[in-house]
Amino acid sequence: MKFKWKAKKLTLVIIPDANQSVVRFRIPHLIAYIAAACLAILLLITTTIYVLHSLQASDLQFKLSGANQQWSAALTSKDKTIEQLHNEVIQLSVQAEQIKAQVEEMKKFENDLKTIAGLDTNTTGKAVASSSSSGALNGTNVEIDSAVASGVGGSPNPVSQDDIIKLGEETLASFTALNSEVKDLQTSLTETKQKVADKQQLLRITPTLWPTSTKLVTSTFGYRTDPFTHRPSFHSGIDFGAKANDPVYATADGKVISTGSDIYHGNNIVIEHTKGLRTWYMHLNKILVNKGDPIEKGDKIGLVGTTGRSTGPHLHYEVLKNGECIDPKPYLKAIRKDE
Ligand SMILES: [Zn+2]
Repeated sequence: MKFKWKAKKLTLVIIPDANQSVVRFRIPHLIAYIAAACLAILLLITTTIYVLHSLQASDLQFKLSGANQQWSAALTSKDKTIEQLHNEVIQLSVQAEQIKAQVEEMKKFENDLKTIAGLDTNTTGKAVASSSSSGALNGTNVEIDSAVASGVGGSPNPVSQDDIIKLGEETLASFTALNSEVKDLQTSLTETKQKVADKQQLLRITPTLWPTSTKLVTSTFGYRTDPFTHRPSFHSGIDFGAKANDPVYATADGKVISTGSDIYHGNNIVIEHTKGLRTWYMHLNKILVNKGDPIEKGDKIGLVGTTGRSTGPHLHYEVLKNGECIDPKPYLKAIRKDE
């Protein structure tokens, strides 16, 4: 009696068509319940799988969306970085042009310095190496002149990647060439500095200064009629007319090698400037230096007088080269700083 329900059966009737016979299935209740339970479990599993898949898909979509945003942000950032690098390449190329111009200016300055110092100028010096299209990009109208004014403009001309790469290569070549140029210039400037210093030293020890303030030449170097005997004679220096007690200046740096007085030269001073080059100042009223004194160009060494063989106040000035009197006139070029 307990399992009576197990004996009960369900009858399934299938009516395919009006002309066909009816099909009957008799299924025990137990089978029907098991089938229903299986169906329910299957449905539950399917639903669970569907829900889980949906959740996973949603999660993936969310993650994908996040990753996509990150990629977009990274891409935008990279684009900006590339753009910034492009601009930096352009700025560097502008700087290369500016440095190139400055190097040329320095070369010109060096040549001017040489001209002023009376040195040989270097006009054959190689120009700063320049790439063929530096300053502008091939195929574009990008102007990279140094725009120092605030007002700039023009039509927009986008620059391609290839243009930038080419400009970068040219800029690198320019900087490499500039590096070499600057090194050459440093060497050249050091040499020029030494030459100018040598020239300055030479100028200091060369008797180029006028020994009196008046610059009035009353008797030149060479043959003349002697003012005392009225006979032809040789004048071994230059006479400068001046008032008594006018200052007498040393015409170059040097050292006093003698001071003295005699009936011909009167009170006189001899200064040695270099080995073999001396100046001699005669007929002084007063000697203001002593033997052995170091002398600088322009120093006041005595006062004009008319001592010795002289007709009136004047300075007899001689330049001696290796003991021989030479014409002082070609040396007299410079004026004193206080004039
Ligand atoms: Zn004289």
